[in-house]
Amino acid sequence: MKLPIYSQTVLTDSYGRKIRDLRISVTDRCNFRCIYCMPAQGVIWKRREEILSYEEILFLTEIFVSLGITRVRVTGGEPLLRRGIVGFIKRLSAIGGLEDIAMTTNGYFLADFAEALVAAGLRRVSISMDSVAPEIFASMTKVSALDRVLDGIRAAQASGLAPIKINMVVIRGVNDAEIVALAEFARTHGLIARYIEYMPLDGPSQWSREKVVSGKEIYERVNAVFPLEPLQRHRISDTAKRYRFVDGEGEIGIIAPVTEPFCGACSRIRLTADGKLRTCLFSLVEHDLRGLLRSGASRKHIERAIVEAVLNKEPGHRINEPDYVYPERTMSCIGG
Ligand code: SAM
Ligand code: SF4
Repeated sequence: MKLPIYSQTVLTDSYGRKIRDLRISVTDRCNFRCIYCMPAQGVIWKRREEILSYEEILFLTEIFVSLGITRVRVTGGEPLLRRGIVGFIKRLSAIGGLEDIAMTTNGYFLADFAEALVAAGLRRVSISMDSVAPEIFASMTKVSALDRVLDGIRAAQASGLAPIKINMVVIRGVNDAEIVALAEFARTHGLIARYIEYMPLDGPSQWSREKVVSGKEIYERVNAVFPLEPLQRHRISDTAKRYRFVDGEGEIGIIAPVTEPFCGACSRIRLTADGKLRTCLFSLVEHDLRGLLRSGASRKHIERAIVEAVLNKEPGHRINEPDYVYPERTMSCIGG
């Protein structure tokens, strides 16, 4: 195959979007079974040899950074489940040119790791927390672990991670009655509540449009109790619309990919735990970087494969199209 010649230092797709953000999934495994992230019957974990080693991830990350990536989010599955994660973060933060390293975690192991992660170079963390009510939390994650997550949040604060965002996937009839309670919890604890519209990434049988609570409705429900005022996005490519509380105590973010798609400003690509490059969360094709790496492809060859994949980045997701097709893998295996 003839690969295109390129001369850019910033990965750019064919729609002119500059790609600056890389989500790295370090594992497809998880100790939770969140109803919106995995099919009810669970998933089959990849074998160990299918998963990229840390050396392989670091090698690829360095290439991504040389091509213009400046921000990395480490995710999974549950990233803190993978052995050696602190050492990995330390080596990641030593890569010159990376401006920002963040992590998304379910918080279960965070109390054990927060200090070491900060010492290794982690600066920011997002923690999933779908309810402040232990029973609802357990019904969504299938684990009675709200106390542990709260311990994790306290440890994250004590170790200086900032800002700390708490992510709630809102599902009608399941946890939507908790929207205001989460805002209240977040603002009284110095956290940023982030509400995420429920996306069809959990296996074809679960999601339905009726279960999606729109960003607009989330806004109205919070605003009715704690009046809000819009804030500027930090960057045009940010997924969350930000609002501050009019009384001055903190802010929230609302991520509405279903009802207000933000694909036009997308700057993200993803590396799965088994070494596939995905140019969209909803991609139906993956680019096999692990195969290239392990077949001894040169660095130049891998660079070109990345550039070419990005050139073919999808214009946007098709959640709202009648012929929407579920990606083969669910969210826990893609890396959120
Ligand atoms: N295990 C970690 C966690 O739960 O934070 C990291 C991986 S998880 C896949 C990353 C994020 O994806 C979480 O904030 C989770 O709530 C979100 N997520 C998973 N499935 C989703 C869905 N169907 N719709 C919207 N967000 C989803
Ligand atoms: Fe695990 Fe995170 Fe998915 Fe929940 S959202 S099942 S914690 S990967």
